[in-house]
Amino acid sequence: MTSALVDCPACESTVSRSAAACPKCGHPIRDDLARGSVMRRSDGTGAAAASDTMGLLSMIFGIVAIGLAFVPFEISWLAIVLSLMAVIFGGVALARIGRGAASGRGMAIAGLVTGMLGLILFLFAFAYVLNNPNEF
Ligand SMILES: [Zn+2]
Repeated sequence: MTSALVDCPACESTVSRSAAACPKCGHPIRDDLARGSVMRRSDGTGAAAASDTMGLLSMIFGIVAIGLAFVPFEISWLAIVLSLMAVIFGGVALARIGRGAASGRGMAIAGLVTGMLGLILFLFAFAYVLNNPNEF
């Protein structure tokens, strides 16, 4: 569902989507809509045009997970949880960004990559512990 109202980019008054021009300042709304340059109103469904929070969280989780992968084995369950969250959040963020609902692709990709690295590091650590049980 798209909102029937848009904000005039020139004077920021609320204008009907079907208006050819802004009744207040005469700005050609229809031309802007055709180019897609008029922002959807913030109460509409297309509200998340800002940088995707999940992408940022994904990147933070991924970086923390990789950091945790280097600390003693006892708490690396946290690393695998964070890695999984980084991968999931990164994937969700990329899907939203792909639909044009959000920006921040670089952060989402960073989160996805660091999350996967965290999982790989965990698997290596796990394999190492299994093969060297006397050291732990
Ligand atoms: Zn206007």
